[in-house]
Amino acid sequence: MFGQGEDFARLVAQARALRAPHALLLVGGQGRGKSHALAVLAQALLCEAPGGEAACGTCAACRKVAQDGHPDLHSVGVPEGKKDIPVEEVRALESVLRLAPAEGRARVARIDPADRLNEEGQNALLKTLEEPRANTFLLLAARSAETLLATVRSRVQVVEVLPLREDQVRMRLRAAGIEAGDDEFAAAVLARGSLGLALDLLNPPARALAGELATFLAEPGSAGALGLVRAWLGGGEGRREVVQRAHLVLTVVRVLLEARLESSVEEPAARDAWIALAEGALQAERDLELGIAPEVALLELFTGAAGVTRG
Ligand SMILES: [Zn+2]
Repeated sequence: MFGQGEDFARLVAQARALRAPHALLLVGGQGRGKSHALAVLAQALLCEAPGGEAACGTCAACRKVAQDGHPDLHSVGVPEGKKDIPVEEVRALESVLRLAPAEGRARVARIDPADRLNEEGQNALLKTLEEPRANTFLLLAARSAETLLATVRSRVQVVEVLPLREDQVRMRLRAAGIEAGDDEFAAAVLARGSLGLALDLLNPPARALAGELATFLAEPGSAGALGLVRAWLGGGEGRREVVQRAHLVLTVVRVLLEARLESSVEEPAARDAWIALAEGALQAERDLELGIAPEVALLELFTGAAGVTRG
């Protein structure tokens, strides 16, 4: 069903029967599909269809979960322009979870990414973890369990989100009307084992972007960078969409760089330049999260790129 193996399917069936552990922590690297797995569990917990081993996907409750509009699903994340999840949001969760479900079978709280809870936030969460209530479920996602305090880790059940096989990703892309192709970029994306990442990066507009970025990175020039950045960000409407476009650019850059570094037989100087670029891309991600203008964050990276690869 979901390419996550029997253990995960069993967990979904438990969620469907409201017999899942009260607190689950889904772990896996970036782009692995943790958020999707959380949504599958949330849907299973709140689905109103009778019986079944998983959510039906079509009832009113399932549709509300899919649109993040179910009154019994409380999602906590990092607000735009903030570095961490504010502790107030965690405390608010504690009082929300005390209440009976508003309309559904259960109360579900989703914290994603949980590795962005600071120590104060994690300590605030302990109270909720220590006193589980009937039909109340806490779903967390993080890159690894080690990013959380031992006191939190010991109170959650850790579940690893597995990478999908390449053929599984290809099959699902095809169902969505996308042909992955056989080039180096497609191979690098598919190797990540994440359907979400593949859907984001292998559609025609994103592929065109990847092609332009690959050309630019092979022969960077700061004048070209300005045009490229403006053209891409200019297609977005409103700040949120522009920020999303900037994140997409950075993800493409990282995949291109990692593919290049893996297959690289280049001289050490060239390798160092590519590693510097990868670090620049991470810095740009942090800049975006801190609310720095997307155009500024990207230009910094690309004009820096022009410097390192020329020199
Ligand atoms: Zn349903």
